[in-house]
Amino acid sequence: MVKYFSLVLFLSKLGKLLKAKIVEKPKYAVVGPLKRFNQKHTVLSRTSWDPSFQRLKSKYQKTREERIRKENVIEDYALRDSSWYVANTLGTFAGFMHGNKGLYSWKSLEVSKENLDSEMKSRKKIRKPATVSEKIKSAGKFYGADLVGIARLNEFWVYSYSYNRSTEQNRPIRLPQRYEFAVVMAIEMEYDTFAMSDIGASAATGLGYSKMAFVSSLLAQFIRNIGYEALPCGNDTALSIPLAIDAGLGELGRNGLLITPDFGSRVRLCKVITNLPLKEDKPSSFGVQEYCEKCKKCLESCPVQAIREDKTAEAITTSNNSGVLKWPVNGEKCFRFWCETGIDCSVCIKVCPYSTKRKSG
Ligand code: SF4
Ligand code: SF4
Repeated sequence: MVKYFSLVLFLSKLGKLLKAKIVEKPKYAVVGPLKRFNQKHTVLSRTSWDPSFQRLKSKYQKTREERIRKENVIEDYALRDSSWYVANTLGTFAGFMHGNKGLYSWKSLEVSKENLDSEMKSRKKIRKPATVSEKIKSAGKFYGADLVGIARLNEFWVYSYSYNRSTEQNRPIRLPQRYEFAVVMAIEMEYDTFAMSDIGASAATGLGYSKMAFVSSLLAQFIRNIGYEALPCGNDTALSIPLAIDAGLGELGRNGLLITPDFGSRVRLCKVITNLPLKEDKPSSFGVQEYCEKCKKCLESCPVQAIREDKTAEAITTSNNSGVLKWPVNGEKCFRFWCETGIDCSVCIKVCPYSTKRKSG
């Protein structure tokens, strides 16, 4: 009997936890001056120019080869590497996440471009923002997004500079004011492969990255085909997590990631920035911040103590942004661990109670 009531209590708590309600303001507190972040300072960009991180790249490669030799995981790595194929080639990689190239091009790649451009412009007409927003969301889901929300583009979330890891050029980003909205999309990372092992999690991550390039480029093309401009983006151009929070897709967790009601942090994010007038969504809340205060599972499970006990609005490393009160994750420690294990780590996503199996399977 006691067990039965505990179960009922647990389920009712879970139900309350997952019931997202619309709120007027996102549940992050801006407590200091916001600065646009330079993409050159992300940990992955630093592997191209920061000597302490450059050295780590060869460590990563060496450990990976050792694991393939000793652990009989060649097929696992094959599954993982192939998942990244679209992202690493047509999606300009995660690798050189500078944007405006390949599937992330800011203009259509179709060959008969001139005719298309004038044909598309002729389709431009005033549309009701609420109606077209619903169509945009349906199209995003049709192309493969699991969640779609719309945010008014906060200029502070746009990178100050775009860093190209192949050429090492660092160019200022100045988006014209007409780009007022971002359509933000979350793509679920497949549960079973994600849960399988660290290499499996990386395969599910890579597939998420490949889908990001596919889905955002198709949605951008849809917007162009109704006469407006659209910039498909992966991790480039603007910070995806605050945009996703503004678009009502979820809340920020202690693990430094977006937590969605449906998939927890088991999602990848992409966005399309556009001049199409849209109806923005309101942020949502389902108690994540309060739950994280007590839970701490990610903090306790992180193998390198990269997740913090307390919140701060200060930049704790070169790769953190300041101004928002949050639990900042130490990306330097995190990346070093990836290089020691020869694979990216997803422990803080796996252990999170919100990242449970909800849709796949
Ligand atoms: S990815 Fe792994 S190492 Fe990095 S913060 Fe999460 S648990 Fe820690
Ligand atoms: S594991 Fe717990 S503390 Fe960490 S993000 Fe998830 S809910 Fe929050």
